[in-house]
Amino acid sequence: MEPIKEPFDYTSPALKVLFGAGRSLEAADAVKSLGGKQALVLSTPEQEALARDVATRLGDLCGNIFSGARMHTPVATTEEAMDIVAGERIDCIVSVGGGSTIGLGKAIALRTDLPQVAIPTTYAGSEMTDILGETQGGEKITQRTAKVRPEIVIYDVDLTLSLPPMLSATSGMNAIAHAVEALYARDGNPVITLMAEEAIRAFAKSLPTIVERPSDIEARGGAQYGAWLCGMCLNAVSMALHHKLCHVLGGSFDLPHAETHTIVLPHAIAYNAPATPEAMARLARALDVSDPAQGLFALNQRLGVPTALKDIGMPEGGITKAAHTAVANPYWNPRPLEEDLLRELIADAYAGHPPRGKTI
Ligand code: NAD
Repeated sequence: MEPIKEPFDYTSPALKVLFGAGRSLEAADAVKSLGGKQALVLSTPEQEALARDVATRLGDLCGNIFSGARMHTPVATTEEAMDIVAGERIDCIVSVGGGSTIGLGKAIALRTDLPQVAIPTTYAGSEMTDILGETQGGEKITQRTAKVRPEIVIYDVDLTLSLPPMLSATSGMNAIAHAVEALYARDGNPVITLMAEEAIRAFAKSLPTIVERPSDIEARGGAQYGAWLCGMCLNAVSMALHHKLCHVLGGSFDLPHAETHTIVLPHAIAYNAPATPEAMARLARALDVSDPAQGLFALNQRLGVPTALKDIGMPEGGITKAAHTAVANPYWNPRPLEEDLLRELIADAYAGHPPRGKTI
């Protein structure tokens, strides 16, 4: 074990996790344990059949189903669901799906304080966080409050088997990005560092198998375990350059969220590597490679995910503007931000070149 050099705070989320195949069958007990008698089951339109299955399992405890959850939690959608909450005397929320559905559950909890059971089916990790991002009039407003964190989370690996391989890979890479930045976070701590390394190891091992054999239950379980830990990392500590770049690129050019994270991550790691030797040693160990930035780029290639921002809709003319925006209003970062170097970094990510490693 490395010596603990600094004092630290660690807040443990006050929630219960049920982990394992078939555990969503226990949703009714979970609702009852929260005092619920009339639960509202949430999903996206694409996952309505799954929501109906869960509603059937809830029996009399299901008050209604709302299958209109959408990406980025539009306030108009939340208001639609709120009409059902008020009209049917809903007393508990059961969210079945990815970050979009869980986001809707959180938005309802923010307005009502209703308890939530979250049953995640992707690796986004929102179920573990106090974070809610809502959109209205084209603007995204993100806030942190313990009011939105689900009380019970059920990780049922069976519900992830249908997640398409490419979505699994990019969702996993998006989750890994939270753990990577937790390894060098300004407000990091030994407990989160432990979780972050373990999470990256779990994903690095499981994602290639998932892409080859999407119904491999052991690999799916490993990825879900990684997703849980990555969600804990995102909740506990502040994110740095990688997340800043992804927010700037995603927001400026309307790029898909998980793919943007997937492409940028090896480059952000290469930039921060000279300033974060301990984090890089852990990352190398977790990925079982000698150079984490190159190793992660190679993993992306092996998974067959996009490796170039130009392939997901970024205009070449946006490179200079993105570098400027990232520096103009930066997050804390272990290595000072230099606009010229960031322009090179973004140009490499745009073109799909390998990261420059320690010499950038
Ligand atoms: P998502 O919830 O938007 O799901 C993407 C699509 O995949 C949807 O059509 C969904 O129905 C489908 N899907 C989900 N699971 C499936 C499965 N097992 N099988 C088949 N189809 C499935 O995607 P996401 O990446 O999980 O979530 C993205 C959203 O979550 C974004 O809005 C992001 O900002 C938010 N998010 C929030 C936090 C937070 O802490 N607040 C954390 C991570 C992500």
